Amino acid sequence: MRLHSTRDFKSKISALSAVLKGISSEGGLFIPESFPVISLAEIENLKGNNYEQLAAIILNMFFEEISLTDMQALTKSAYRSFSHKDIVPIKKLSKREFVLELFHGPTLAFKDVALQILPRLMSKALEASKSDKDVLILTATSGDTGKAALEGFKNVDRVKIIVYYPNEGVSEMQRLQMVSQEGENTYVYAVNGNFDDTQNGVKAIFTDAKMQAEIADHGFKLSSANSINIGRLTPQIVYYFWGYICMLNSGDIALGDKINIVVPTGNFGNILAAYYAQKMGLPVNKFICASNTNRVLTDFFKNGVYKLKDREFVKTISPSMDILISSNLERMIADMIGDSDVVNSLFSDLREKGSYNINKYIDATKTEKFYANWSDEERTLKTIKDTFDKYDYLIDPHTAVAKCVSDDYFEATGDKTPCIIASTASPYKFTDSVLEALGHDVSHDTFKNAEKLSKVSGTPIPVKISELKAKVILHSETIDSEAMFNSILSSI
Ligand SMILES: *Cc1c(COP(=O)(O)O)cnc(C)c1O
Repeated sequence: MRLHSTRDFKSKISALSAVLKGISSEGGLFIPESFPVISLAEIENLKGNNYEQLAAIILNMFFEEISLTDMQALTKSAYRSFSHKDIVPIKKLSKREFVLELFHGPTLAFKDVALQILPRLMSKALEASKSDKDVLILTATSGDTGKAALEGFKNVDRVKIIVYYPNEGVSEMQRLQMVSQEGENTYVYAVNGNFDDTQNGVKAIFTDAKMQAEIADHGFKLSSANSINIGRLTPQIVYYFWGYICMLNSGDIALGDKINIVVPTGNFGNILAAYYAQKMGLPVNKFICASNTNRVLTDFFKNGVYKLKDREFVKTISPSMDILISSNLERMIADMIGDSDVVNSLFSDLREKGSYNINKYIDATKTEKFYANWSDEERTLKTIKDTFDKYDYLIDPHTAVAKCVSDDYFEATGDKTPCIIASTASPYKFTDSVLEALGHDVSHDTFKNAEKLSKVSGTPIPVKISELKAKVILHSETIDSEAMFNSILSSI
């Protein structure tokens, strides 16, 4: 499959080369020129596959350079690190609501589903490229990407990885996971500022030719493990087909029935994967885009204007969604507009005026496929409690934002279409907030809180959380965002 950049439709690149490159040279994101299509009859035929097999079949449609047999070996070894036998189990909450548990990987967030695959794709790409340069992965994280990328890339041959997280912008469990990271090739820095500052710092290095030349002198070329990398998005398409097939198998839907997909959204990667699944033939009625107080996307879908200007960044109990610059939205816009000149002008508006307006270019019927809303802290906490009381089911604050907005949608429309709610993290990753939501006292010792949460909810503490307690802190440096480039030079 060929891809082109959102900002230059003329230059084409293979999917595997795009994995290595991360972002295009002029700052755009790589998108498929056209999508492979899976017909309803083919969906029916996919019913007998397990998760690893389904993943291999779908990924093979994008990465044709890798044979189906090799891809099967790749997905099998990638998902061995998952603790649940189904990899991505689906839990029926009510007649209408199905929770897709995406958090059974090694770092307990949905990002593992892609980040256990990406390093393997990158190794293949590196082999195919015959380049003498090793890969340097630079990653800005709002909390979960960093750890998932570190776990995916640790001790991978010919790769070094540096992760930057916003100081004080992540949960205590997330921080402990990152600062205790093992592996010969892993580096972690806290950066003063919020996630957007951190992400901008990384983006600036990616588009600075001089810095890249200096990095090349050290024998490395840059790549990204953020969801701007197409190798992150493709493995995420799989689980929407998987969810649909599971619902077919259980008889909850019939072949061809449409579903709604609810996603707690930050960088717009996970929901974009659902949009891509629909382009490939998955029957979807609505995409429900759930935001926290940083509701730039809610406003965008309501009025067609993406407005950064005069918007304040707010820290919330769903930190992985504390994002104002949702990078992957550019991919959806480029897809809907179909003209890279217009995309360029919109994003120069964003740079120069702090906003852009799509109303002139995109027909409202296209964006109406999306329902967007947001949940504040109080509603998020209440949703955790209500869901536990009503269904005896514990959810994390990100998933609670999704459930809350899903309830808003149902109330507003009465639409009874069955929905898949993407559950993006284990509640134990956000122990303190979840315990508070259930109405219990929260101590300063997050591990004590985990024990209490386990007791009051009757759910086991994931091994990956309990074993954190004994880990040694290996990365303790905090830097200013201006010092990010220097931190690279001292790491490679
Ligand atoms: C990353 C993350 C999100 C947001 O996903 P995007 O793909 O950035 O929209 C939501 N929830 C959790 C737990 C995450 O780690």
